[in-house]
Parts: sequence; C-alpha cells; structure tokens
Amino acid sequence: MTLPPAVADLLSRLKEAGFSAYVVGGCVRDSLLGLEPHDWDLCTSALPEQMLEVFRDDHVVKTGLKHGTLAVVLDHIPYEITTFRVDGEYTDHRHPDSVSFVDDVAGDLLRRDFTINAMAWSPDTGLVDLFAGREDLANHIICCVGEPRRRFEEDALRVLRALRFASVYDFEIDPATESAAREMADGLRSVAGERIREELLKLLCGPGAGRILRSYPDILSVIIPEIAPMVGYDQQNHHHSYDLWEHTVRAMEGVPPDPVLRLTMLLHDTGKPEVRTTDEKGEGHYRKHQAASGVIAARAAETLRLDNATRERVVNLVIHHDIPLRTESGEINTDRSFLLRRLNRFGEEDLRALFLIHRADRIATGYTTAEREDQRLRERMAALDALLAEKPCFTLKDLAVRGTDLKALGLKGKQIGDTLQALLEAVMDGKVENNRDELLKFINI
Ligand code: ATP
Ligand code: MG
Repeated sequence: MTLPPAVADLLSRLKEAGFSAYVVGGCVRDSLLGLEPHDWDLCTSALPEQMLEVFRDDHVVKTGLKHGTLAVVLDHIPYEITTFRVDGEYTDHRHPDSVSFVDDVAGDLLRRDFTINAMAWSPDTGLVDLFAGREDLANHIICCVGEPRRRFEEDALRVLRALRFASVYDFEIDPATESAAREMADGLRSVAGERIREELLKLLCGPGAGRILRSYPDILSVIIPEIAPMVGYDQQNHHHSYDLWEHTVRAMEGVPPDPVLRLTMLLHDTGKPEVRTTDEKGEGHYRKHQAASGVIAARAAETLRLDNATRERVVNLVIHHDIPLRTESGEINTDRSFLLRRLNRFGEEDLRALFLIHRADRIATGYTTAEREDQRLRERMAALDALLAEKPCFTLKDLAVRGTDLKALGLKGKQIGDTLQALLEAVMDGKVENNRDELLKFINI
C-alpha cells in the first residue's frame, strides 16, 4: 500500500513517540480496490492528550477531542487521527452513551460497521484484517462485523450504509446482513436527517443504484413513505409499459449521477397514486400529479435536511419535470423566443437539467428508444449552446433599461415592474432590440 508522504510522516511520528498507529477504514478499503482514497483516517494507541503532545508544533483542530479525534493539518489538508476506542451502549440507537479508549487496534476494528471497512494497515504490521474484509472485497460482499441485528440496532444508519456501499461498489449484501437490514430498517426513523441524506445521495449516485432501488423499496420507504405504494402499481396508461416503481427506477438510472437529478427522478412521479382517476375505458389518468409530487418532494427535502438551494431546485424540477418542450406538432422546439422564455423561467442549469429529465422520463416509459431520445437531447442542447453563445437577454438584469430609467420618465410602483417585464418579453420575442433608446421608444412615453 502506498501512503501519501504526509500520512507516512504522521504514522512514523506516532511510532517514534512510542505509540502504535495505523491507517484505517475507507482508505484501506479503497486502496485494496485500487481506488484513490479521498481521505486518510488514522487510528492510534495514543490518548488525546498524548496526541496533542506529539503534534504540539503542528496546526491541530480539536473539535472531536471528546471522542478521541483530532485533525492534524498538513499542507492545508486535515488528517483525522482517532484514539483506538470501543463504543459504549447505544440507548438512543444513534450515539454511543460513552466511548472508552482501548489499547489495541482489534478493539477499535470491532466497532466498525462492515468487514470491508474494518481493516487497518501500518508499515510495521501490514494489513490487519480480523474479519476477512479482504475476502469480502474480492467477493464483492457487504457483511456486518459481528451480529447484524445487534449492529443495526446500535445504529440504524448502518442499514442505509449497507445499501450505499452495495450501490457505490456494485456489491451484493450478505444474506444474514440483508435480512437483518430489512428487519431493522424501522430504526432509520430515529436517525438524524443529515446522516440519512449523506448516505442516500451517495447511494443514488452509485453505479448499482437501480439494482438497489429495485431490491430494497421496503427499506427506502421508511425514509420516503410514498415509495411503498409505487411498487407493483399498474399505471393502466397506454403511454407506460412498466409499473410505477420500475418506471421510476429506470428514470433515475437514465439521468447522470448527480444528486439533484437522481433525487428529482426518484420523486418525480410519487404523487401519481393519490391523484389517479380512471376513465370509462379503464385508462388511468394522473392530472396534476406534478404538483402532488412537488409537495412530497418538499416533505422529503425536509426529512433529508437538504439545504435551501438544493431543496428549491429539486422541488422546482419535480413540479416541472414534464413541462412541454416541444411544439404543438410534436417537433423539438428550438424556437428562439421559446428557449429564451424557458431560460428566463428556469435559468441555464435547470433548463439543461430539464432536457436530461425529459429524455430519461421518456425512455423509462418503454415506448421510445434511447437512440431517438438521445438525438432529441443533442438537438436541444445544440440549439441552447448556439443561442447562449450570442449572450442573449433573458433576465431583467440583462435588460438595457432599469427601473430608475422608468422612474425618471414618471412611472411609479407596480407600473415600473410591469413595464420592465413587458419590455423583457418583447426583447425575448424579438419585437425590439435590447438597446436603451429602442426600448424607451418602444414603450412610447
Ligand atoms: P467514504 O469513502 O464515503 O468516506 P468511509 O468508509 O470512509 O467511506 P466514513 O463515513 O468516512 O466512511 O467512515 C469512516 C470509517 O468509520 C468507516 O470505514 C467505518 O470503519 C467507520 N464507520 C463510519 N460510520 C460508521 C457507523 N455508522 N458505524 C460503524 N462504523 C462506522
Ligand atoms: Mg471517509
């Protein structure tokens, strides 16, 4: 295993001071997989005050000291070092009531969640792998350290972490771990939203996300209850060949692995069951399901403690996921004023997102081909690229006339806003140039 020089340095300084020290957890797992670890965690026999002594001349961040963790900052990169510890009882199923420090790495590895995450390595000892984590890595298996039910009872987030690692590495979950996960999933109700968010978003962006969603809607329904009725739901609609959950999973798989896009597709049709009507021919209709899904998306955003900007994007994209992007005759609408109005309403990032969402949603009906939808997507993106290259005006900010100009002409209050809006629309529709004199002439005051 090759350590970054800074990490090797930290290990050797702890060793010189008489302590044992290892890299541990995710970085060992990722190194064995041949992946570049995104951070390096260390564990050591040194107690917090002893670590402070060893690193007294370094920049040390002490936020986790109570739990035995500090971070040494080398070259602007923080490295977390934690005293070997065992967790006490988990009476609230979230936080151990106490942590106690132990003097060997074995005790520390025992508290970790999965065998693939419970390996340590040091230059002196080589790999410390007490639970056959390396073998599980080779066999692509997620398996709890110890008795699965008990481990999920201690901390129910581990249920979701099992799904997350299975998705991200495209691994299977060991049968005993899997059945315990299903059995203990209810515990996720008492886990903090922030913790759930981190795991769920990684899960959704993993290469195995579709497979995991298909296999574990029961577990995901604990977090987002509206998922449960979608499973096996017959849409009875001639535009759809899959049940609602299968459609949703396919739509989710069909967008790039970006948290906003994946979450939007997960939620985009959640409102369908509640708005469904059935006509005399037995065909299902879903009027206003977009708004109903939007309400559910806002609720999910709350559960997941999404930040405001992300919540607004997801809810907006869910509500508008099938906003018309074609002309009445069904052609791709690359008309200039149409695109400018869409840009004005959604901004560039979300309009591109809507193009991607449309493509995935249509392919996931089973009634069109990926080739056809890819071609449409390319045409839409190309039209947008060409338009944006001209630096067109599509926001009030771009308009060559300001509120103060209109005020100087004697307009007041609401008149000013209305007039600016009318001018912007005239510019987007190509009725007048975005030029101050032309605009003032246009309003004819
Ligand atoms: P990532 O690559 O996403 O950072 P990671 O395995 O490093 O994955 P972290 O959440 O950073 O995951 O946790 C670091 C290590 O701490 C894990 O590898 C695991 O050994 C342990 N760990 C983290 N969360 C838990 C938990 N809820 N229960 C038990 N052990 C945990
Ligand atoms: Mg990590």
